[in-house]
Amino acid sequence: MLETLRRLVQEVNQARNLDHALSIIVHSVKAIMDVAVCSVYLRDNSNAFILMATDGLQEKAVGKVRLQEGEGLVSLVASRAEPINLRSALAHRNYHYFPETGEESYHAFLGVPIIHHRKVVGVLVVQDRDAQSFNEESETFLITVAAQLAGAIAHVEIGNDVAGQNETEPATLDSRSITGLPGAAGVAMGVARVVYPLADIAAVPDRQITDIAAELEKFEKALAAVRQELRIMSQRLEDKLPSQEHALFDAYLLMLESDSITDGIRSAIEKGNWAAGALRKVIQEHEQVFQEMEDSYMRERGDDVRDLGRRILMHLQQDAPADTDFSENTILVSEEVTPSMLADMPMDRIIGVVSVRGSRTSHVAILARALGLPTVMGAEDLPVRHIDGREVIVDGYSGRVYLSPSKTVRREYRELLNQEQELSEELQGLKGLPAETLDGEKIHLYVNTGLLADMTPTQESGAEGIGLYRTEFPFMIRQRFPGEDEQRNIYRQVLESFAPDPVVLRTLDVGGDKALPYFPIEEENPFLGWRGIRITLDHPEIFLVQIRAMLRASVGLNNLNILLPMISDVAELTDSLGLIHQAYGELLEDGENIEMPRIGVMIEVPSAVYQAGSLARRVDYLSIGTNDLTQYLLAVDRNNARVAALYDSLHPAVIRAMMQVVESARVYDKPVSVCGEMAGDPAAAILLVGMGIESLSMSVASLPRIKWVIRNLSRERATEILSVVLIMEDVHSIRAYLHEQLEQAGLGGLVRVGK
Ligand code: PEP
Ligand code: MG
Repeated sequence: MLETLRRLVQEVNQARNLDHALSIIVHSVKAIMDVAVCSVYLRDNSNAFILMATDGLQEKAVGKVRLQEGEGLVSLVASRAEPINLRSALAHRNYHYFPETGEESYHAFLGVPIIHHRKVVGVLVVQDRDAQSFNEESETFLITVAAQLAGAIAHVEIGNDVAGQNETEPATLDSRSITGLPGAAGVAMGVARVVYPLADIAAVPDRQITDIAAELEKFEKALAAVRQELRIMSQRLEDKLPSQEHALFDAYLLMLESDSITDGIRSAIEKGNWAAGALRKVIQEHEQVFQEMEDSYMRERGDDVRDLGRRILMHLQQDAPADTDFSENTILVSEEVTPSMLADMPMDRIIGVVSVRGSRTSHVAILARALGLPTVMGAEDLPVRHIDGREVIVDGYSGRVYLSPSKTVRREYRELLNQEQELSEELQGLKGLPAETLDGEKIHLYVNTGLLADMTPTQESGAEGIGLYRTEFPFMIRQRFPGEDEQRNIYRQVLESFAPDPVVLRTLDVGGDKALPYFPIEEENPFLGWRGIRITLDHPEIFLVQIRAMLRASVGLNNLNILLPMISDVAELTDSLGLIHQAYGELLEDGENIEMPRIGVMIEVPSAVYQAGSLARRVDYLSIGTNDLTQYLLAVDRNNARVAALYDSLHPAVIRAMMQVVESARVYDKPVSVCGEMAGDPAAAILLVGMGIESLSMSVASLPRIKWVIRNLSRERATEILSVVLIMEDVHSIRAYLHEQLEQAGLGGLVRVGK
């Protein structure tokens, strides 16, 4: 049964369009369950359910039968969001008869809701002639099918819209939008460019081309190259392989000669798809035919087809010119945008980013914020394969992506961009002014960074220094650990660019979602595993080299602050301090003239909250890393789009934890700063000022907004707001209340622009 389901889902995922997908569903489910009727109803914009496909009812009813909200058994299934299993539907008070369906002859009825992202998007129904209930096995099977298909249907439905098959102008702003998660603030209107891992044939997107002859030529060239390659391989292995195994090469060559494959690809190219997209389509169709075969030997031939496809793809990619064809307003789209993928792009052409996986605190989102690129993460329903070259709007405030947007949507976003422009011009005027509350309280604003390339905007931002330099980024873009001198040079540039202002260099925090290509860590649960200080304490040689490089970089500048990530108990801190003092002592012995830097601890693990006092008294300052603190306190993975709605640093538990840290540090007279993303959230900034936190570190793009909030608020008012928030019990009321406060302080622009 599992295998049948798997195949069904796979087929639906590969369907040409929504009609095709639904037709696969109704025919397969009817056959598997051996019932008289299987139908799918989908909800439209007005909440009515439309019969979209059937096997068993009259075909002519498709598209015509429409059940208004509250009408018929289908609506009942939807409103209850649970299955309804009836011996005789005809006898039920909600039964609604449509003569065109011919369903009067079917008594038994089983309807299950199709639920996607908590919303009932449709109902899957099976019916049978006799009056008898469906058994439990049938019920659980249909529930499983519906649960598995919900995502696939949503996918194909959106892909359909994007491919322009639904010509009508959408009725609401939403109708061609995908909801993901805000990754980096801002709006970008541009053209999607899908980037995919090389050699992954399933990930190749469709791409429209105009020069069909040139594309056909590329394909023929790749085909000839693969043929040649196979012949050489076959000759080389002729004496080494038994004849039966050797025949495999002949089979491959035969497949290459097969008109159904090569002509299929040619014809897809002739219809305007590029060779790689045409190849993916035809190879997948053939693979599927083999996979559906009962005979296991034949099923494995599907793997051969894929292998062949990969070989042709490799040649197509080798011949492709280096990507010089990025348009000037490219929106980078991928299943999983990684920091190195982003770093590889022509930065002057990228204006926005969309990633199917990941969330706001994924490191690629942090990088995008540093680069000022509006970004949407976790856009799970994005039909990646169908959107290359299409117009896209990225709304990094709300986390929405609009595909082939309508005129109305485009107009709305142009207006929003103008508003943004006005706001940022207004904010520009604040550059030289201090971040001081209305009652004269000075707040120090710093920026978070980790790239040398983003130093210039950072210096021009009016920041008072760097509050968090994530040293792992220079480690991530190399092929090996950088050496002491290499690191010293990088850190020196950073320290020099801001001297005499302070610069906080955080020691290496890899692990979790930050992998080094040359230092793989395989773990079941990486965020609770070998990460940050745990790795560097286990590898003092890595830690000591980094500390020495930092200390040497600070000679004569003396603006270095060291920050230790992921500290979860006092022993880790004392061990780290021991190593720092060891490195310092060695350098002094070597005759270097170095001052001892200020040392701080990140508070980002719940245990550190409860030991904040013990940690504070051993160091010079604390810095709260709200990204991890939120993830660990709420048990919500910061990278998982499915639970992202639960991830919010304004959660009462996070606010209380932060209060506790501030109070514990106050006992030892040690300053506390915030360097997680929360510091760049205008609503949250009110609370942080209210708590008495005097320094905030954020992405360069957030800085002017936060300064605006600080300059328009008194510290006294912020404290009052905090005391109201402290008696609130849920995050939604807190956010709503803070937005109201921003509006009242005349800062509604921040909320409106970021609607
Ligand atoms: C944090 O966890 O809040 C933080 C600033 O560190 P990172 O995002 O690099 O884990
Ligand atoms: Mg962290």
